[in-house]
Amino acid sequence: MTNLAVVGAQWGDEGKGKIVDLLAHRFSLVARFQGGPNAGHTVVFDGKSHALHHIPSGIFHDGVVSVVGPGSVMDPDRILGEIDGLIAQGVPVAERLRISSRVHVILPHHRTLDGAYESRLKGEAIGTTRRGIGPAYSAKMQRLGVRLADLADAERLEQTMAQALDCGLRDLLERLGEPVPEPSEIAALARGWWERLGPLCCDTSDLLHDALDAKRPILFEGAQGTLLDVDHGSYPFVTSSSTVAGGIPGGLGVPPRAVERVIGVVKAYLTRVGAGPFPTEETGAFGDQLRDAGNEYGTTTGRPRRCGFFDAVAARYAVRLNGLDALAVTKFDVLSGLDTVKIAVAYELDGERLTTPPACAHDLARVKPVYEVHPGWEAPSERPRRLEDLPESARRYLDRLTELCGCPLGLVSVGPDRTETIIPRGSLLEEYGCSAT
Ligand code: GDP
Repeated sequence: MTNLAVVGAQWGDEGKGKIVDLLAHRFSLVARFQGGPNAGHTVVFDGKSHALHHIPSGIFHDGVVSVVGPGSVMDPDRILGEIDGLIAQGVPVAERLRISSRVHVILPHHRTLDGAYESRLKGEAIGTTRRGIGPAYSAKMQRLGVRLADLADAERLEQTMAQALDCGLRDLLERLGEPVPEPSEIAALARGWWERLGPLCCDTSDLLHDALDAKRPILFEGAQGTLLDVDHGSYPFVTSSSTVAGGIPGGLGVPPRAVERVIGVVKAYLTRVGAGPFPTEETGAFGDQLRDAGNEYGTTTGRPRRCGFFDAVAARYAVRLNGLDALAVTKFDVLSGLDTVKIAVAYELDGERLTTPPACAHDLARVKPVYEVHPGWEAPSERPRRLEDLPESARRYLDRLTELCGCPLGLVSVGPDRTETIIPRGSLLEEYGCSAT
């Protein structure tokens, strides 16, 4: 079986957790390549909802090793909280989880800085989770960061922290009126973190290469979404890492050819959490209706998500950036019962028709979507198991959506549970033995 990547093809929260969970049992490793505790994947099975932030969604499967790769950033207290929650549920985390020795550590002052920047940006705030992800990535790029392996030597870490403070961190915190950490405080925290995280720490690229050599398949799990990518998203309203499939080789230390197939996850409509342009946003009663029907509140922050219609311009952009082989369309059940459903097929900006998003966020904020209007449908009386069980207008909507995106349909999700899934015959997900039961 070939290696597979699952990435978000919108502004995140597409339901990647459910898709990874459906596929994970077929793979020997599930690897996260970017992001930190700003991710929030929800997996539902046996009538229970499980929220994950740091840990890949493969953790619930016996015989599958979950990997947090060096392209991620990690908050030790948060990952330990997540680990304890999983252990309390009987998940053998020590057997199933490995964290890269090269992963960068989110330190308390990174969270402080995240909050301070957001507060100062006021109306222009990015809407980050304030969990320190951006400042931890900044420290990494400045070569003043702390990696998991560095926690093993608290004395050396104290020196690294003193250097970081001398290189401008102290001035910055003082100017912002924020507390300056003592290097010895960070070293003391490091000792406690290392005691618990040290046994899970290893060279994860070695693990992945062993799997590649032995032809044991790997599932690459994306977080956030393509439109939040630091290079290709609606900058500056983006996350601070590379969320696209191209980020996998760098984020994990595997060759690009290891990423053999890529599935993009899209909601049947569109949501965005935090600030930034959203051309198809519905701000009135209809947006509220979608939010309630889809329970669109953030897994990580609980913030209400902004809601709107499916944007085929943005999705087609994501198909091309990631080289998507199939689309997994989620939350299809949420659209049932509407009179009409719209899809944005192009944008208009200053009298010009655009078929790809403009580079500048202020231009994206000004575009007018050009809509196609489709008839709605009622929810089927029984849970649909095959595409043929869906009403005709629902099937037509899916056909048109995939046609506009230029990508075949791989899966339709009609509810949060593993069993509420339609795998079209002959689709890529069927090839991967993906099953809803
Ligand atoms: P992720 O970060 O991409 O994994 O997405 P989230 O977990 O933040 O958001 C997806 C939410 O939608 C979760 O609460 C899922 O349980 C839920 N969900 C996933 N697929 C479906 C679906 O097909 N229908 C409905 N109604 N909910 C779904």
